[in-house]
Amino acid sequence: MTLAPSDVLRALELVKLPASGEALGTSGRVSGIVVDGGKIMFAIAIDASEAAAMEPVRQAAERAVTGLPGVTQAFVSLTADRAPVARTAAQTARTQAAGSGVTPRAAAIPGIRHIIAVASGKGGVGKSTTAANLAVGLATLGLKVGIMDADIYGPSVPKIFGVTGKPRLVGGRTLAPMEAYGLKIMSIGFLIDEETPMIWRGPMVISAITQMLREVAWGELDVLVVDMPPGTGDAQLTMAQQTPLAGAVIVSTPQDLALLDARRGVAMFKRVEVPILGIVENMSYFIAPDTGNRYDIFGHGGARHEAERLGVPFLGEIPLAMPIRELSDNGRPIVASDPDSPHAKAYVAIAMQVKRALEGPSTLRPAPRIVIET
Ligand code: ADP
Repeated sequence: MTLAPSDVLRALELVKLPASGEALGTSGRVSGIVVDGGKIMFAIAIDASEAAAMEPVRQAAERAVTGLPGVTQAFVSLTADRAPVARTAAQTARTQAAGSGVTPRAAAIPGIRHIIAVASGKGGVGKSTTAANLAVGLATLGLKVGIMDADIYGPSVPKIFGVTGKPRLVGGRTLAPMEAYGLKIMSIGFLIDEETPMIWRGPMVISAITQMLREVAWGELDVLVVDMPPGTGDAQLTMAQQTPLAGAVIVSTPQDLALLDARRGVAMFKRVEVPILGIVENMSYFIAPDTGNRYDIFGHGGARHEAERLGVPFLGEIPLAMPIRELSDNGRPIVASDPDSPHAKAYVAIAMQVKRALEGPSTLRPAPRIVIET
């Protein structure tokens, strides 16, 4: 028997909201119910200020639907349009000093200083490869770095880093991240069965990502790089909104069509007030290994012009190069496995610009003098 959303809502009538005693199932707060075999996912709309009070409701909702016949797993997320302000005063000051006019959105994650998204307007442009090498690049600059693979449609970070297996559960709900090349790594690919068709949509995506972000023992990180799902649909927009992002890097190839998609990516992040750290042109040109001749296969330089047109930084060009693909496919990102190659250096140069942008002008200012009056 397949459960209908109405069955789910009926089960949720037994869960009561703390303040009013109203039944969750008829409160109008439940949305995006997805029943996928034995899995149920949905979201509960809350006001950001209710987050702590509603956590027991979320757990009760999970228990209530797990009791339905045939249900093996429930993923329930709390969603708020605007989450509470949870930046430190220093972060706010830095934002203001940088003049980026960012309004604080999703709650910060304790221990993680900056979260950046690596995004693309469409798939196949090298977003994951760039995210992985940028993450290693940031680590070579002395930062503590994590990478979270949120590309629900094609998680490739485990393959790029050559990491297999399942993350360990530490404590009740928290997962220990995997580690490789000195990076903390978590991927949706570790949590899903590769054979399971990717019919997850909307709330399922969001709830899985929220859990990966907030229920992983990341520890202290300077930067968490999030490999976003490609595209600019609702799921990506919500994710951009619900993740406390310090900025976004957009990856594009030089073709006009890819650039059009990249433009949509820039617009999406601007809409949710996430600063654009810059655009990377991937597969920018090709140097034939035998002759050394250069070929601008996709027409080179488009992303630089586009960045200028959009008034966002241009971070650099990465050529289309066999070693980048081969090393990625072998689980050894080029920045880690061949750091002296020109390609690795190109990624590190991008990482330097990202680091500089994250640190912002405030780091150049002297620390305030503390005067102790006696
Ligand atoms: P996306 O995340 O945008 O879907 P991937 O990073 O998975 O793209 O890259 C798609 C394919 O292209 C992979 O096989 C990857 O190794 C290859 N690739 C990405 N960037 C380059 C590059 N600069 N040179 C050669 N191959 C690349």
